Amino acid sequence: MNEKTSDESFETLDPKDWEKSRALMHQMVDDAFDYVSKVRDRKIWQDMPPETLESFTTSVPRQPNNAKAVYEDFVQHVLPYNMGNLHPRFWAWYMGNGTISGIMGDFWASVMNPNLGGGNHAAHKVEEQVINWMKEIIGFPETASGLLVSGGSMANFTGLAIARNAKCGYDIRKEGLRPEDSGKMRVYASSEIHSCNQKALELLGLGADSLQKIPVNADYTINLEALVTQIKKDWEIGLRPFCVIGTPGTVNTGAIDDLNRLADICEAEDLWFHLDGAIGAIAMLSPEVKSQLAGIERAHSVALDLHKWLHMPFESGCVLVKDQKMHKDTFSLIPEYLAKNTRGIASGDNWFSEYGLQLSRRFRALKVWMSLKEHGTERFGRMITRNVEQAHYLGTLIDSHENLELIAPIGLDIVCFRYNPGGLTLEALNVLNKEIKLQLEERAIALPGYTTLENSYCIRVAIANHRSTDEDFDELVKSVLELGKELH
Ligand SMILES: *Cc1c(COP(=O)(O)O)cnc(C)c1O
Repeated sequence: MNEKTSDESFETLDPKDWEKSRALMHQMVDDAFDYVSKVRDRKIWQDMPPETLESFTTSVPRQPNNAKAVYEDFVQHVLPYNMGNLHPRFWAWYMGNGTISGIMGDFWASVMNPNLGGGNHAAHKVEEQVINWMKEIIGFPETASGLLVSGGSMANFTGLAIARNAKCGYDIRKEGLRPEDSGKMRVYASSEIHSCNQKALELLGLGADSLQKIPVNADYTINLEALVTQIKKDWEIGLRPFCVIGTPGTVNTGAIDDLNRLADICEAEDLWFHLDGAIGAIAMLSPEVKSQLAGIERAHSVALDLHKWLHMPFESGCVLVKDQKMHKDTFSLIPEYLAKNTRGIASGDNWFSEYGLQLSRRFRALKVWMSLKEHGTERFGRMITRNVEQAHYLGTLIDSHENLELIAPIGLDIVCFRYNPGGLTLEALNVLNKEIKLQLEERAIALPGYTTLENSYCIRVAIANHRSTDEDFDELVKSVLELGKELH
């Protein structure tokens, strides 16, 4: 590698000096290990100063620069202002922390740089194996198919596209939506459904109105009677129900719909049963949670998000489909320039580009493959179980302070609460809690999330974090109480 090219005037994008480049890369690896191993010692989040913001407004570089100077720019302006989700006290939205094996996998994915659209090469086998492992985890049969995608949004989009095509009863790929079906096809989900599903239905030409949001019970699970009533009513008035989306782990409160009952309803009404398992599906790895997910294996399609509770570096999602043929029928399109051979690099029966929208695809599977091989499903399961226990630990802390209150039942690993000193209007409470949440961020104490449940603003703690300790929750509660007192 350190031999000079025979003709030094021949320009490529390779380093001019391989040894210098190697030394820089070694330094990056050392810095990266310090960065991850010392995450607790750094500020969880900080705003970017004006000179950093300014640095992002320069125009496109025209001349080469040395790689070390570029790295120094990164170290000065990018690295210190990260999102914070590696930190043990990050509980916002719903994200994972990453793993070292995930980093190594992503690194090697870029080094090998294969295209997972298709072809006969090992990366294809790695992705196949990861999908098979996901089927094993969820309890899907070997005959099921799947695809790694960017995340939950694409996984749900893929599942819903197959549902639409499988259930519309004609060749919708050729004809498009028939006028008599336009505005009539209906999908059912609870009012707690994640917004990406609506986006998917809009892009599938079904319109936002195709999503019938069904009211939830007091525990935020879908109300099954209301669901059945709505489906029957819609059939009666000439609409075309075709799919129910269940959510095992809702984004607001972690509520798990009754999957077996939903499967029964779908069977009785001949509907596609899709699951948005972005949060909860991977909790099948926790022996303590698994029973709450009974019925998951009865779905026609399941969306999983591996960059959430499996802690893979972004982006990493997965869709599983019970009927491989329907999956392929939705996406396969092979023009002559993609025609396959029976031997050589262009051989192989199933190319991943026949199972999704993307043709060129990165080697996403490697980080998952390496991480699962290194840690095993049981360790990942223990991380999930501990987060669920921590949610309940936080719940007991909240219950034990009279100025704190839970706003919703704790579902899986999500706790919604607020500071309430008594005697305040709802509006004042909302303003106060929003300010507490902002000050937790600005003082770099912790990054919980937030949501609004029945007009009450709440601090939402979503604990998909393999680094959080019980003391981190003690600290959160202590800080909320102090801030509440200070601000009220
Ligand atoms: C996060 C989430 C999504 C969207 O997944 P992305 O990976 O962000 O695209 C969908 N559904 C639920 C329940 C989620 O929590």
